[in-house]
Amino acid sequence: MNPAVQAVLTQHLKTLKLSTMEKELEGQIRQAHEAACGYDEFLLNLVEAEVQIRQENGRKRRLKEARFPMQKPLETFDFEAAPDLDARLIKELSTGTFIKEARNIILIGKSGAGKTHLATSIGMEACRYGHRVRFITGCGLANELTEAREQQALGRMIKRYAGYGLLILDELGYVPFSKIGAELLFQVLTERHERRSIIITTNLGFGDWTQVFGDANLTAALLDRVTHRAHIIQCNWDSYRLKQTLKSRG
Ligand code: ADP
Ligand code: MG
Repeated sequence: MNPAVQAVLTQHLKTLKLSTMEKELEGQIRQAHEAACGYDEFLLNLVEAEVQIRQENGRKRRLKEARFPMQKPLETFDFEAAPDLDARLIKELSTGTFIKEARNIILIGKSGAGKTHLATSIGMEACRYGHRVRFITGCGLANELTEAREQQALGRMIKRYAGYGLLILDELGYVPFSKIGAELLFQVLTERHERRSIIITTNLGFGDWTQVFGDANLTAALLDRVTHRAHIIQCNWDSYRLKQTLKSRG
């Protein structure tokens, strides 16, 4: 390439913040000459390199922002160990359509059944499809909200939690909420209702939710919101770890 043209072109790509195209320019031109490919193909290859890097960086950024406690990609979930699970439904949910349609998912079952794993897998796929995700325990969120309220920053916090395309509330039910905690959580869920998706994992049947939220009216209103347009998935099989342990003991 003419060095003067290359210098200007490089500068333009810098100005436009197309750093991958800038980096790949020379190599792609050489390759295009060698393969005698057309202008269209050359431009496609160059632009595609930029798009791919951006998508990958976006995915990494969203995975970090989601704060998953463990990386559990869907490929690591053993469907055979969850015999009653509708694998087709899980795969459909992993495409992220439920997020576009603001549907919810509630995973109910005993400890060790793989609820957190499934929620994480679906969340990681959502990051791949460009959705902003946040994973937090029910207690963690109640505490964050309570603290924000004490620091007069509640409005900002509720807005932040309304902004995620998918909010994953893990382990709802292990620890009961304070009265304030329950009310603030209710506010976040109300804010998201019919607009944004939630995944809840819990060991409690709906009948027991009052124990966790304290107030019967508030619990009824909350259940009404989260179960509306929700996939309720019962995970009633035995603990995966327990099965592995028993297996290894032969
Ligand atoms: P829960 O949230 O229902 O208590 P977890 O999702 O934390 O259960 O699962 C407990 C452990 O067992 C985790 O390490 C998880 O990755 C693993 N696990 C559970 N079910 C499966 C499965 N079907 N395939 C692979 N690993 C699983
Ligand atoms: Mg769990």
